[in-house]
Amino acid sequence: MLNVCDIQVMKPLLAQHGFHFSKAKGQNFLIAPWVPASIAQEAGVDETAGVLEIGPGIGPLTQQLCLRAGKVCAVEVDTRLEPILKQTAGDFSNLEILWGDILKQDIPALVAEKFPGLRPMACANLPYYITTPILSALLEADCFDTVTVMVQKEVAQRIAAAPGTADYGAFSVFCQYYTEPELLFDVPPNCFLPQPKVTSAVITLRRRAARPWNVTDEAAFFHVVRSSFAMRRKKLSNGLTAGFPELGKAGAEDVLKVCGFPENVRGETLGIPEFARIANEITSRRAAK
Ligand code: SAH
Repeated sequence: MLNVCDIQVMKPLLAQHGFHFSKAKGQNFLIAPWVPASIAQEAGVDETAGVLEIGPGIGPLTQQLCLRAGKVCAVEVDTRLEPILKQTAGDFSNLEILWGDILKQDIPALVAEKFPGLRPMACANLPYYITTPILSALLEADCFDTVTVMVQKEVAQRIAAAPGTADYGAFSVFCQYYTEPELLFDVPPNCFLPQPKVTSAVITLRRRAARPWNVTDEAAFFHVVRSSFAMRRKKLSNGLTAGFPELGKAGAEDVLKVCGFPENVRGETLGIPEFARIANEITSRRAAK
């Protein structure tokens, strides 16, 4: 197996194919073999797993996934990589490569089609310019046992942040609604070519088997969350008034009071069960109208 993380191997390989990195496609390729091996290992990939990989590049993580998984389906947008990937991962019989944009795929349909009888997982060194839309699509698909990805460290911290901390925001709530995130390890810039400006981190998001709260209307719930963080320096009643004009200021204040919160409560201190309580109260008032 070609050690594509070895810079002595990678550079001639890229040169041979006349390949130049595309900044616009978020290309930072791994040049430290321990990283893809650790990602595949810590993700818990085994022969029962069907793994969706996003952005295989020249295949360092792809190789490690193929060595362990029942099947790997890798989605890559840059077709210039086709002859290289063929050389680095073409021998794996459990690999299927789809050439296209991950954001244009119907992910639940793809998983159902490609991984029958397997436990779906997602695993990737993500292109950082579209981290949020990709992660949103993966979580909303609601079909992966685990999503294990490398992202900018700062994003990893936001995903896993607890209420009341500076990193906590609407994206934390979104991710934690569907999954339980766990930070695995940091990856310094010198593990990539070209080097990114920031430190990266690998995070695993485990799908919640059951959601320990009751949300009667998910759209209303996420609207409450977005409204409360849109004005995170202000009292929650202001955010709710702006996000739900039909309530009016008095109505928003009353919702918080009925839910048992102090008048000056701030959204950034609330967890998912608290946001759920508020959203359910608003939903039931809408229904009563
Ligand atoms: N996994 C490789 C490459 C990571 S760089 C490694 O770790 O070395 C990110 C990869 O995502 C690149 O190969 C890039 O071409 C690909 N990519 C960028 N945008 C994409 C998109 N919209 N859909 C699928 N792949 C994409």
